[in-house]
Amino acid sequence: MIQSRGFNINTQNLKQEYDYIIVGQGLAGSCLALELREKDKTVMVFNDPTGNSSSRVAGGLINPITGRKMVLTWRANQLFPFLKYFYRNAEKKLGIMFFHETPIYRPFISVKEQNEWYGKSVEANFKPFVKEVVTKSEKEQVVADPFGGLLLNGSGYLDTITFLEAVNNWLKTSDMLVNEKFDFDSLNFINGAAVYKNIKTNKVVFCNGVEITRTNYFEEVKFRPVKGEVLKISINPALNKVYNRGVFIMPRDGNHTVGSNYNHKDLSWEKTENGREEIETKLQSLLLKEYKVVGHKAGVRPSVSDRRPVLGKSSSNEQIIIFNGLGTKGVSLAPFFANQLANNLVSGTEIEKEVNVNRFY
Ligand SMILES: Cc1cc2nc3c(=O)[nH]c(=O)nc-3n(C[C@H](O)[C@H](O)[C@H](O)COP(=O)(O)OP(=O)(O)OC[C@H]3O[C@@H](n4cnc5c(N)ncnc54)[C@H](O)[C@@H]3O)c2cc1C
Repeated sequence: MIQSRGFNINTQNLKQEYDYIIVGQGLAGSCLALELREKDKTVMVFNDPTGNSSSRVAGGLINPITGRKMVLTWRANQLFPFLKYFYRNAEKKLGIMFFHETPIYRPFISVKEQNEWYGKSVEANFKPFVKEVVTKSEKEQVVADPFGGLLLNGSGYLDTITFLEAVNNWLKTSDMLVNEKFDFDSLNFINGAAVYKNIKTNKVVFCNGVEITRTNYFEEVKFRPVKGEVLKISINPALNKVYNRGVFIMPRDGNHTVGSNYNHKDLSWEKTENGREEIETKLQSLLLKEYKVVGHKAGVRPSVSDRRPVLGKSSSNEQIIIFNGLGTKGVSLAPFFANQLANNLVSGTEIEKEVNVNRFY
């Protein structure tokens, strides 16, 4: 019998043993579970079904060129080929489609910008992501595009809810899921093993999004959560590609997802009138069609101060691991870095400095 944190643990009662416990089944936990199973490791995932999940709010957009200045997404040349391979593979394994390749059309704001993109579109970094530099307004005027726009390649979206539910079903039917809140007070460390209730494991990986900030773990990490809201709108007839300038308008499931905004102050998960107004104002300066708002959601992105993912082990306990910091681009980042973390856990390969949690220690 071992006394630990006020619990009496009879080690003979430890009924189950897994290589890894994963806490949280958003994009981070789902991608990591898939990667660890690919490597034949056993996992048990705890997911709080009533908990907030940024992944369930996300638009799911996969966008290689972003921001007002239209810059290449960080590490796009590595992330994008990998995410396509990853989600296509996951679709085969889970027997359902959730990864959709769709062009994104991004109107230019000036002739100067149009000219700049003639040059940039042939640069090695940008070339794989530029389908066409469009010099005239589209025939069917969907958005304001007096100077034409940039049509992107390699873009699309993940139907995040379908993906998360498919992973949830797969975990459930393979006895790898406990659909309940993980109680951090019941986690103990005994003779080199982590023990949670009657489960023994080598390591516990926290993939719990912004909820990590409510625990005593990884307090050195400079988390900087960012709230965001999305609208669901109907447009008749539905659009056939994603439009993006200030906001994105993404055709999805017969409707369209529009987003998003960024709020560092209000970190509640409540949708707000201000949020809706902010998104609609930008929408109206882009979209020329009639629309109707049919849905509205809010969530909090798990971001950190340097806007890079956070992977690796705790400074005080090698058995506690983090996979967090997916910020505004979880769909694009999660596959590549879940793979990097799984390689580190299973084979001891290095975690890159830029994403290693030890940059905060
Ligand atoms: C409005 C909005 C729009 C966005 N749009 C996009 C987009 O278009 N493209 C894109 O790439 N990204 C987008 N994002 C960002 C994306 O949602 C995040 O990067 C990503 O979802 C983070 O995933 P995660 O798994 O780290 O966290 P989460 O999805 O928050 O998952 C954490 C999980 O842990 C569970 N959990 C927490 N505590 C416990 C516990 N104690 N026990 C058990 N389970 C627990 C929660 O229930 C949840 O399921 C958007 C985000 C927002 C808010």
